[in-house]
Amino acid sequence: MTISRRPLLLGLAATGLMGAAPNPNAGRMVVTLLGTASPQPNPNRFGPCTLVQANGLNLVFDAGRGCTIRLDQVGVPLGKVDATFLTHFHSDHLNGLPDLWMTGYIQTPFGDRKAPMRLFGPTGTVRIANAMRETFKDDIAIRIADEHVPEAGTRIDAREFPEAGGVVFNERGVKVTAFAVPHGELIHPAVGYRVDFDGRSVALSGDTRYSPNLITHAKGVDLLIHEVFVMPAAAANDPTAVVVAQHHTTPEQAGQVFAQVKPRLAVYSHIVQLRRPKMKAPTIADVLSLTRKTYKGPLAAGEDLTRYTLTAKGVTGERLSNTVRPG
Ligand SMILES: [Zn+2]
Ligand SMILES: [Zn+2]
Repeated sequence: MTISRRPLLLGLAATGLMGAAPNPNAGRMVVTLLGTASPQPNPNRFGPCTLVQANGLNLVFDAGRGCTIRLDQVGVPLGKVDATFLTHFHSDHLNGLPDLWMTGYIQTPFGDRKAPMRLFGPTGTVRIANAMRETFKDDIAIRIADEHVPEAGTRIDAREFPEAGGVVFNERGVKVTAFAVPHGELIHPAVGYRVDFDGRSVALSGDTRYSPNLITHAKGVDLLIHEVFVMPAAAANDPTAVVVAQHHTTPEQAGQVFAQVKPRLAVYSHIVQLRRPKMKAPTIADVLSLTRKTYKGPLAAGEDLTRYTLTAKGVTGERLSNTVRPG
């Protein structure tokens, strides 16, 4: 019975009478904050890392400290990351990258990558990929000989592009566009990204000062993930603090960005709360109230393991549990 029906079904499909099956992923994007911190070690906030899931793809933006732990917590084996995108080469955005790459080629349920890791970033990305393979060639050789890990899984397929950016990835209807951001005169390249899929969109600022180019590229996105910097007022004479401040966006400036981009939701990540001895550290509440001086729209301070679901109806957020995933 089953066998006899198969040719009939195929025939109907071929003539178009059955129509295409609806894509269950259509019009939907899921964005999870995996790390929302700056270089400052923090047990509650890991290094910069954001997971964007659209049409079955797992795309990771920056690979800061602890990104492998967070990916495992949200149920994405490291070998199932389809592509990783770098914004720039400050250590806090990169220091989880060797872990993501090397733990990914271990053939266990949390790794299991059998093909080269796909890595995208501005000019310099290929050099970094080559240097990682050189630095860690002992682990590669040992695991291939001892554990028989597939050699292809230890490779890195690195693609780099000029700082001016453009469309850098376009697969399964998911388009990733890079654009230059002004992080600092001596900090090049530095880019942000926009991801589009079937009417949904998210923009990620990377590290940047107030950026008119970001406003242009992010205009009207569903979700804007933006960095922010605050320091104690008394630190204004601290030369180091002043240098760092020049590389980032204040809450008031970020509010100006949000007011022009008009996202359905603006979310802070890479929240730099500069601490100095004997000075009261700025709080998240401070960041939000300063932002409100210039922006009245939808706003949230991101936290690790917050998942935003983007649909035609809007953006909803939920906090995932910060525990070890069973199994
Ligand atoms: Zn940073
Ligand atoms: Zn940076």
